[in-house]
Amino acid sequence: MKDIAWNWIDENREMLIEMSDEIWEYAELGLWETKSSRLIAQELAKHGFDVKLGVADMPTAIVATWGRGSPTIGVQGEYDALPGISNKVVPWKEPLREGAAGHGCGHNVHGVSGMGGAIAIRYALEMEGKDGKVMFFGTPAEENYGGKVFMVRDGLYDDVDACLSHHPSSMNTASIGSNNAVNGVKFHFYGKTSHAASSPEQGRSALDAVELMNIGVNFLREHVIEKARIHYVIETGGGQPNVVPDYARSWYYIRAPERDQLDPIYERILKIAEGAAIMTETELKVEFIDGLYNIIPNRTLAELVINNMREIGAPTYTREEEEFAAKIAETVPRQQKIDNLRKEKVPNWEKYLDVNLVTDILDPWNEGEVRAGSSDVGDVSWNTPTIEFRTTLNVLGAPGHSWQFVSLSGSSIAHKSLIFAAKTIAGAGIELINNTELLKKAKEELKERLKGRTYKTPLPEDCRPPLDIAKVAADKAQGKA
Ligand SMILES: [Zn+2]
Repeated sequence: MKDIAWNWIDENREMLIEMSDEIWEYAELGLWETKSSRLIAQELAKHGFDVKLGVADMPTAIVATWGRGSPTIGVQGEYDALPGISNKVVPWKEPLREGAAGHGCGHNVHGVSGMGGAIAIRYALEMEGKDGKVMFFGTPAEENYGGKVFMVRDGLYDDVDACLSHHPSSMNTASIGSNNAVNGVKFHFYGKTSHAASSPEQGRSALDAVELMNIGVNFLREHVIEKARIHYVIETGGGQPNVVPDYARSWYYIRAPERDQLDPIYERILKIAEGAAIMTETELKVEFIDGLYNIIPNRTLAELVINNMREIGAPTYTREEEEFAAKIAETVPRQQKIDNLRKEKVPNWEKYLDVNLVTDILDPWNEGEVRAGSSDVGDVSWNTPTIEFRTTLNVLGAPGHSWQFVSLSGSSIAHKSLIFAAKTIAGAGIELINNTELLKKAKEELKERLKGRTYKTPLPEDCRPPLDIAKVAADKAQGKA
């Protein structure tokens, strides 16, 4: 049955590659991936999926379903880009469009590998006359607003028995580590303006409130768990020094390994914000932007995808591709590569020091490790057994979210990553449909890891996807003022 799916992917290789390249060209930012989502939705419809575009209050979110009966296998695809890192497919820094966005996380590949995998599963189901559903989730704004969290809140994942997705990386593997839960929150302070020299006593500075809040939080750092991370920017701090600012705003990310470790830290930060408002006689408005859960890993699914990767065989590279990668590698200091490999705790990392494109398929090694970043895959993983596996696309040691990654995401190295990942999704999905015991094991593992904890959306009831905020950034990234 896997052969049917893999053949479909081979036969449609060019179409999948063209779609990935087209989305790479569009390079649209989160919540406004209009052309990218339409392209994927149309392709799914062509193959008979029941396609809903514009779910969970997001015009670019997709849920597409094919099949009948059970089980239901979910497949995810992302397609948002990152601002300001546009690059041509060249091994040096040269924007394709000055100041524009670029696919510095390879989500052009992510979206299409998921879609391709889902369509391949659909043909295998049909030709074998098997019961089972495949659902494709097109999930917007992974990079900034956590589209999946809104989709989970709307119950779109409720019937999914297991969920698969791929993420381009610099290795072929599947993580069994976790990552951080996070809250993204904006603190708006409203004061009273006045002449800063002649009548400062009449003013109430909103900037003072922002600064006092930051000082409070910086003292708080000593009294939170060691693994928590708190970072902020001041988005607006006033106009010029001789005007007392009547408005100022900061934007915080607060992270901790588990949601129930994050929540009490967040409560204390709210108190500090209120304290800053009291001290300065300003008004405080808290705007919750996004909240994500930590990932619950799943060893059963990790081993399943790795077995499928081995059955398919990892891509190898031509001399031209190796030379391209070597030139990119020259832009990355060797020490940075060593630091990254160590931080990731890659087993026998020394043997990869002179490797640019990893062709090994690595067993999962990071049980119990917590990556510092966060992802909305976490929220899905609390609700259904979930795996996001990785395939080689980036040069080992090169940074994520970088011009290097943008360039590689549009190259033939990415095309190989895409086809390999789509086949892995199809193979793993089909095994889950055919092997009831395996699916049961994945579900039992999730239950075991949750230890009785249940998911409660981190979003306040009135929190909606911030389409307007996102629109400003999206227009800027496309060169519109
Ligand atoms: Zn990403």
